[in-house]
Amino acid sequence: MSPQILRNVEQEITDLLRDLIRLNTTNPPGKETLAATYIANYLTKEGFKTEIIESAPERGSVITRLKGTGQKPNLLLLSHLDVVAANPNEWTVDPFDGTVKDGYVYGRGAYDMKCMTAIELLVIKLLKKNEVELKGDVVLAATADEEQGGEKGAGYLLRNHREKVWCPYVINEGGGLAFPSKKGYVFPIQTAEKGILWLRIKAKGTPGHGSKPHMVDNAVMRMNKVVDILGNYPAETMYVPTLKQFLAEMGKHDPELNEIFSRLIANPTKSEQIIDELAKKDNALAEEIRPRTKMTIAPTMIHGGIKENIIPSDCEAVFDCRILPGQDVNKTFDLIKELLKDVGLEKLRFEFIQKHDGSESSIETPLYSTITSVLREFEPNCGITPTLTTGGTDSRFFREAGSICYGYQPMIPDEPNDLLEKRMHGIDERITIENLVYGTSILYETVKRFMS
Ligand SMILES: [Zn+2]
Repeated sequence: MSPQILRNVEQEITDLLRDLIRLNTTNPPGKETLAATYIANYLTKEGFKTEIIESAPERGSVITRLKGTGQKPNLLLLSHLDVVAANPNEWTVDPFDGTVKDGYVYGRGAYDMKCMTAIELLVIKLLKKNEVELKGDVVLAATADEEQGGEKGAGYLLRNHREKVWCPYVINEGGGLAFPSKKGYVFPIQTAEKGILWLRIKAKGTPGHGSKPHMVDNAVMRMNKVVDILGNYPAETMYVPTLKQFLAEMGKHDPELNEIFSRLIANPTKSEQIIDELAKKDNALAEEIRPRTKMTIAPTMIHGGIKENIIPSDCEAVFDCRILPGQDVNKTFDLIKELLKDVGLEKLRFEFIQKHDGSESSIETPLYSTITSVLREFEPNCGITPTLTTGGTDSRFFREAGSICYGYQPMIPDEPNDLLEKRMHGIDERITIENLVYGTSILYETVKRFMS
């Protein structure tokens, strides 16, 4: 029997998302307990036992569990409850009203990622209601703090309540939004993400009068060298397995790309030239691929000086460094110090703002096979590819703890993908009701099949 689009969930999934958007969980401050309580009430009415765990006052995550027979490994449906800020003056609707208009649900979190929270809630509810015989537990966790690094959400849960949330398999955000190709849709499944090293560097000097610059050691000039060296660092190209699989799979759907990608894979030392060549044909794709081939360092903030005629003794800058899975964060820090040794390490101070390694999950798993077979039943001609994201998600905590994690939020683009991604942390974030129904149907079928 071919899988079904669950038309009858339309009203419920729309209401769930609208209600979640109305609970303002902008992080900071978060206040996710608002949404966690709503979810706990919803699940309790459906006969689930739930628990809200607060890492700090009002910073709640909610968990529930649907028991299986223990014949199969458990699966966690993960999502985050917090959202980034939204300025109502920039929006055409109130970002915290959950406006339903022209087939869309609007609001902060509509796409990232209250839609997925709503979908996962409905999936676990339907599994229970339909009395699906589960061979493993299905756990649901909707967590606090992802948008600020997740330490007070997923990180806290794994450190303090591991037995309640850890599962061998995790489905989370980060992938699933199909993109069009010459031969139909391609669904990216997020199997890897880059790691982060956010570094504050302070340059020291000696102060003096701006009219006599040669008498002093100018901290701004020292920082200028640091920015120049790090900002222009020609990092070595390294293809992680996910990227190679992505390029190979994408090539299958477009002969022109296949030629370029085959050369790219075969010639890592010429990656920059080949990506430049691709940029002439498809700039957006080229700039999506480029940061996936190497570590990047972006200077993002700089401060120094207090007055027009004073040469300052301090200048500080922040660097957003993203490393590939397999590139150790501490070794990267050693490399940065090595690069800066001629600037005078004794006059530089380093401070970590955030640091964690990248992570990667194999695609040689039964869950990945189930995902691909279910997607192909819904979309017979689609492509499916693992993907590495340059941004991070809570999956990193679980991958670190040994879980296989996939970013799998199945959606069909309802407008050009670049526009959609801009809305994600931008203005007029929205999702079609059609996509909510579609996502629920596919995820339900996937979980049901994987667990039974
Ligand atoms: Zn998110």
